[in-house]
Amino acid sequence: MKIAVCVKSVPDTETKISIAADKKNIELNGVRFITSPFDEFAIEEAIKLKEKNGGETVAISVGGKEVTDVLRDSLARGIDSAVHVDDPDLTWLDPLSTAKVLAAAIKDGGYDVVLCGQQGVGGDNSQVPSILAELLNIPQVTLVVKLEIDGTKFRAEREIEGAHEFVEGSLPAVFSAQKGLNEPRYPSIKGVMAARRKEIAVKNAEALGIKGTVGGDNRKVVIKEMTLPPDRGQGRRLEGDVDAQVKTLVDLLRKEAHVI
Ligand SMILES: Cc1cc2nc3c(=O)[nH]c(=O)nc-3n(C[C@H](O)[C@H](O)[C@H](O)COP(=O)(O)OP(=O)(O)OC[C@H]3O[C@@H](n4cnc5c(N)ncnc54)[C@H](O)[C@@H]3O)c2cc1C
Repeated sequence: MKIAVCVKSVPDTETKISIAADKKNIELNGVRFITSPFDEFAIEEAIKLKEKNGGETVAISVGGKEVTDVLRDSLARGIDSAVHVDDPDLTWLDPLSTAKVLAAAIKDGGYDVVLCGQQGVGGDNSQVPSILAELLNIPQVTLVVKLEIDGTKFRAEREIEGAHEFVEGSLPAVFSAQKGLNEPRYPSIKGVMAARRKEIAVKNAEALGIKGTVGGDNRKVVIKEMTLPPDRGQGRRLEGDVDAQVKTLVDLLRKEAHVI
């Protein structure tokens, strides 16, 4: 079984985000990049599938130099090999463009399973896996919390509002991982050391046969402006006897917060 995992590098969720001067991006100086948290579930599932069924796992990521450490993290966790798609033409991509690049990297690879995170933390579009499945013309299941493979058949469990849904289909297919799919393992020291020695294959747009067709003016969505949410006002502390506090609180909830 050959398994691809699409891994996105995202700013560390602990990072204090500020907006760059052009207001089209976040300030990237000094930002540490990590594996998008939902992709950790995808990576873990790929490793588990290989442990159970044998085969090969490949992590694929589109992005700049920040991707290298993130791909090494995938390798350290136990992914067999990594592909970094890096090209100055393939920056500032919208989800459609990202999916086109991933499709080009995946389509002739003989993959049975393609695993993604359900959203790339930071961009949060939740679009890439669905577009990718469409471009590859294969089935997709989103928000997967359990995945079973039997030969060329799969059975997946999805978490939906107030219920669980069970779906079956045939491989190859794209799955996007929801929290709860598994418990991602931490990289071991041995894994980290081995990952340092592994070579990461780097491909550009030309190697993937998409030069001039993806990114730039081919994007369908372009970020025009980013702003931070307005500062939250100071909290208000109620004092005095409890009866008076409760009365004031109810008044505030009714007249200021308008929640009752
Ligand atoms: C500097 C910068 C510029 C941007 N410019 C634009 C822009 O011009 N237009 C626009 O619409 N958006 C832009 N974005 C936002 C965003 O990065 C893209 O829309 C992105 O391609 C989709 O990311 P997402 O996390 O929202 O995707 P989602 O659909 O939420 O991602 C779901 C899953 O798809 C896979 N995936 C997503 N991205 C990658 C990747 N790069 N490599 C491998 N797997 C991946 C992962 O498995 C991920 O968990 C920009 C972001 C940055 C940081």
